[in-house]
Amino acid sequence: MKIGVLALQGDFDAHRRRLQELGAEVVLVRKPEELDAIDGLVIPGGESGTFLKLLGDGGFEKLKEFVHAKPTFGTCAGAILLATEVENPQQRGLGALDIRIRRNAYGRQIDSSIRQGLFGDSPLEMVFIRAPKIEHVGEGVEILATEGSDQAPVAVRQGRTMAATFHPELSDDPRVHQAFLNLIGETLFDQTRGIFSGKPSLSEELFRDRRTEP
Ligand code: GLN
Repeated sequence: MKIGVLALQGDFDAHRRRLQELGAEVVLVRKPEELDAIDGLVIPGGESGTFLKLLGDGGFEKLKEFVHAKPTFGTCAGAILLATEVENPQQRGLGALDIRIRRNAYGRQIDSSIRQGLFGDSPLEMVFIRAPKIEHVGEGVEILATEGSDQAPVAVRQGRTMAATFHPELSDDPRVHQAFLNLIGETLFDQTRGIFSGKPSLSEELFRDRRTEP
């Protein structure tokens, strides 16, 4: 299993180190064709507008194809890129996560901070840097982590796409990256059992088991 980290700009190296610590084989992705050789991708933080410029139309289309087909995890600017709707200002998104996200949503006063949120039910340190806010989540979107008294969603998942508005690569806690590796594992496992292999997929099996229950 080979994981790519998009290395156009931003803090890609901290993601590379964290994934390697967790035992993954990691490659830095700088050219669109390098996407063909990986099983999953991390889009790091940085500046989402700059990412779009560096990608260009061709790179954007190739990345869009990838994120709709394979597991992808976006942090901060990466989360913005994966969204269907981006505000402040509006800009195009890859549409892999049915969320509306607002850039630089915390204002200048608290543009960077370390806060404690909840990952599932457990406390997690979260580093926010000029972070966006997820303002709306669509129906198929699962909330993985929340923060603040309003329990705002700060990490979400839809199918094989994951995103966090904070920077898990800058904290010591490896749980968020581990969750992404688990997601890739599940996706690969499900593919080998999927309809193309002639075997039922996990979800088909679950439904069949329910149907045959007395
Ligand atoms: N403010 C950046 C943007 O709008 C995101 C910041 C980050 O990735 N740390 O793209």
